Amino acid sequence: MKKGLVIDREAQMIGVYTLDDKKTYRGIPRKKVLKKTKIYAGDYVYGEVVDENTFAIEQVEERKNFLVRPPVANVDKVLIVSTIKMPEFDNFLMDNLLVVYEHFQTDPVIIFNKIDLLNEEEKAGLEKWTQIYTDAGYDVLWVSAARNEGIQKLTDYLEGMICVLAGPSGVGKSSILSRLVGVQLEVREVSEKTERGRHTTTGVKLFPFGENSFIGDTPGFSSVDALYFLKPNEVRLYFREFLRYDCKFPDCTHTREPGCQVREAVKNGEISCERYKNYIKIIKEDPALWQELC
Ligand code: GDP
Ligand code: ZN
Repeated sequence: MKKGLVIDREAQMIGVYTLDDKKTYRGIPRKKVLKKTKIYAGDYVYGEVVDENTFAIEQVEERKNFLVRPPVANVDKVLIVSTIKMPEFDNFLMDNLLVVYEHFQTDPVIIFNKIDLLNEEEKAGLEKWTQIYTDAGYDVLWVSAARNEGIQKLTDYLEGMICVLAGPSGVGKSSILSRLVGVQLEVREVSEKTERGRHTTTGVKLFPFGENSFIGDTPGFSSVDALYFLKPNEVRLYFREFLRYDCKFPDCTHTREPGCQVREAVKNGEISCERYKNYIKIIKEDPALWQELC
């Protein structure tokens, strides 16, 4: 059987891209498949090319993850796009997005766009935040979609991956998408109703680019409250740098427990105050908890 990737999913339409010869077919699921599984963009399928336009889907590979927003399966990277200015960097939003996408078992990467706009002082800000997120355990890339800078490096970084864009409006998601794919594209608007994690009915398209990479035309969250998806005591599991520490209690919430190594690490500067502050803010705890350490 041939392996394909679902790159277009809209209403009754399933577009299948065959990985060996890079052709697009209309996918028709065999009856047994139709009964068992809903098919999403990002699903790997197996089947047969029955004529020059048609791919008969015999089997859908088990998904490694599934994002509700946008509805894409097997996402390797979520590109969280932000800027230092225009719009101004919102680190609270960034930390909420990181928590939510970690929770969906996707790997977020941070892209700072519009680096062409920064003066020396703002560049220092970019370096500060880059250090904070690198220390926390994230990859951080700098690009300027306007000047086409850092785009080749980003393309190389994403080789072989299925990715989607996320982040607030105006940061340059459409511009980055156009640069990666090489044609003028708009990321689609998503209605407010779908903002709340409901499955969207709009279709998603994945565009091939680079070396066997694919990127979605529908963006992920532009703003999100981590507590919409998680209980307060689960949030600690999605702050990557917290997982490096062994607190006295394995279920330590890093707030008031004795023998908390995370708080110790904040105190001695190993964990950034900005990150710990946002953790406390996300779980709606007492600000005094970070104020007394930072
Ligand atoms: P989106 O809402 O995240 O999809 O953002 P857009 O791609 O629509 O970009 C918003 C605005 O920022 C547009 O006016 C773009 O031309 C501009 N823009 C995008 N990337 C850059 C960049 O790297 N540098 C500068 N100076 N402007 C950019
Ligand atoms: Zn602790």
